[in-house]
Amino acid sequence: MNYPELFSPLNLGFTTIKNRSLMGSMHTGLEEAKGGVERIAAYYEARARGGVGLIVTGGISPNLAGRVAPFSCQLSFSWQVKNHTPITQAVHRGGGKICMQILHSGRYGYHPFLVSPSRKKSPITPFTPWALTGRGVEKTISDYVNCAHLAKKAGYDGVEVMGSEGYLINQFIVAKTNQRKDKWGGDYENRIQFPIEIVRRIREKVGRKFIIIYRLSMLDLVEGGSSWDEVVMLAKEIEKAGATIINTGIGWHEARIPTIATMVPRGGFSWVTKKLKGEVSIPLITTNRINTPEIANEIIKDGHADMVSMARPMLADPDFMLKAKVGKSDEINTCIGCNQACLDHVFKGEIASCLVNPYACHETELVPKKNIIPKKVAIIGAGPSGVSCAIEAAKLGHEVHLYEKNNEIGGQFNFAKIIPGKEEFHETIRYFEVMLKKYGVHQHLKTEVSIESLQENDYDEIIVSSGIKPRKLDLEGADLPHVFSYMEALKDVSKIGQRVAIIGAGGIGFDVAESLIHPADINEPQEVGEFLKDWGIDEANEKRGGLLDQDTYESHNSREIFLMQRKESKLGASLGKTTGWIHRLSLKKAGVNMLRGVEYKKITPEGILISQNGEERHIEVDSVVVCAGQLSNNDLYAKLESLGFKNIHLIGGAKIAMEIDAKKAIQDGIKVALSL
Ligand code: NAP
Ligand code: SF4
Repeated sequence: MNYPELFSPLNLGFTTIKNRSLMGSMHTGLEEAKGGVERIAAYYEARARGGVGLIVTGGISPNLAGRVAPFSCQLSFSWQVKNHTPITQAVHRGGGKICMQILHSGRYGYHPFLVSPSRKKSPITPFTPWALTGRGVEKTISDYVNCAHLAKKAGYDGVEVMGSEGYLINQFIVAKTNQRKDKWGGDYENRIQFPIEIVRRIREKVGRKFIIIYRLSMLDLVEGGSSWDEVVMLAKEIEKAGATIINTGIGWHEARIPTIATMVPRGGFSWVTKKLKGEVSIPLITTNRINTPEIANEIIKDGHADMVSMARPMLADPDFMLKAKVGKSDEINTCIGCNQACLDHVFKGEIASCLVNPYACHETELVPKKNIIPKKVAIIGAGPSGVSCAIEAAKLGHEVHLYEKNNEIGGQFNFAKIIPGKEEFHETIRYFEVMLKKYGVHQHLKTEVSIESLQENDYDEIIVSSGIKPRKLDLEGADLPHVFSYMEALKDVSKIGQRVAIIGAGGIGFDVAESLIHPADINEPQEVGEFLKDWGIDEANEKRGGLLDQDTYESHNSREIFLMQRKESKLGASLGKTTGWIHRLSLKKAGVNMLRGVEYKKITPEGILISQNGEERHIEVDSVVVCAGQLSNNDLYAKLESLGFKNIHLIGGAKIAMEIDAKKAIQDGIKVALSL
């Protein structure tokens, strides 16, 4: 059998979970959207049909104060049960099991009614919480119990009590956020009474045959967080209180350490769960950056945990488990940990989706037409938009010819995959290659398509996905030999000198800087130990919150780098909310100089002349790398249009270069394929 440990059933006594995979909790935005119930039911049903063992929903508040935002989802009243039954029915129809996560945001709430054990504002929200009164604490516990009871009525197989990521329960547990003088504050034993009572009273109410998962913050990653001994003590108490399973939580939201971003090594935190093995007798779930069946299986085999949680990987491919089961893991559309369409969307108040799988959370909207008439289709350009379009069109039964002038597919992904920390992009290219083959796309690599051949072949549809070209600078000295486009620089960073000016600080300017701060021969993902050391995490887990006292980061940067932009805003402001801070911090640690409000005067043989705050300054550099955005590469399309070609389509960066990214490119490709 493929992945025997991952596919072995987990017997919980009163029920059995068919395999060791958990689709971890993730808010999608559908919870609050109009028509969201049907959409979210379809989304979860697809994952249940795809073979996931147990699903945990996004967080649902037990009361008004616990909402993450003013209109976030809440389950407190009987009349709200009907919003959940279609979801549980859909999952059960699909052969799955589902638990509802109960999440009280505490001081992380983004509204004025937020509450916390003490009146201590969090660094990541503008509102100061109200301190709960003693009666308020009791009422909150009974709201949790009521919420779990209603979840049972709605047909859920269980609940997950969210006790990590810095939300209300964490705020009770840690002294810096709980300065109460009553029985809920003071010693650690008192501070953990809040979660213990929640679990104990929920168990009392729902009976024995109902799953209670407790998400335990095993590594807070904030100053003054729990010590390991305290974590173990709480785990034991939670087991005694009646939990069925303990899930792992890593890092509060306010922690400034990456925990799930793509540069976190795969399975980089499963060692934390392993430490708890043997301390309790109920099953343990581990989590964070587990994105392939190989790594999931290895984690269980090595005894790190009894189950693995994969939230984003199930978004990226609903059939993850089915494909793994039949030995087709190369057909899995792997989550690359970018957060660009999932968490970044949620934080912007948009519906979540997935960069590599735009169908995610749009299952009822992106639906192929019925009765498709097969067509002969030419697609020119094998970047993310062209390849996605080719795969979808071929899947629908069209005869697809994909032309690419280079000797490999992938377009801009071939640059992304060589950025240190972005190695996961290799997986998307692997997926593209396997799918192109599977659906019989005719690939014409190293082929510059001509108008004549397009005419001769008599295509029904011609799709131009010829991508982008880097914007050249209109600046004196821009054609000097030490000025490089970002593509030239990334192809061979060794030709870039020791002192470097980077013009443009968007996503690509940051990527180029990241490449330059690492030795040129780095092309492997970081080892876990190296990652932990770089970010000051105590691998021995002896320090409070798992944080080392001293900074152990060791810079490998031998260059003096100047990353510049004309705007006055902070550099990297356009990067994703959940990852931009990591990129900024990473470059800051490596000593990259970040210059804003820059006016470029000219590039000289010795460097670059700029003006900043009205003062001219000549910066001596050996190389200048231009990362000033892109322009559409749409000459072919214009030619076809002028020659009167019918049924031509322009997609991806070739259509709109401004702010084109992989997410938009893939989405564009798929939408056009569905429209054929
Ligand atoms: P971008 O994000 O639009 O950044 C372009 C940069 O060039 C800006 O910093 C801009 O800043 C500067 N610029 C624009 N016109 C210029 C000119 N004429 N002269 C000098 N500077 C100029 O584009 P990108 O960096 O090429 O990235 C392309 C897309 O890929 C973007 O959507 C980006 O978000 C995405 N991407 C994302 C990531 C990620 O990690 N999330 C990584 C790579 C790419 P000023 O105008 O202030 O000078
Ligand atoms: Fe994974 Fe990125 Fe998709 Fe999120 S958007 S599920 S991180 S690939």
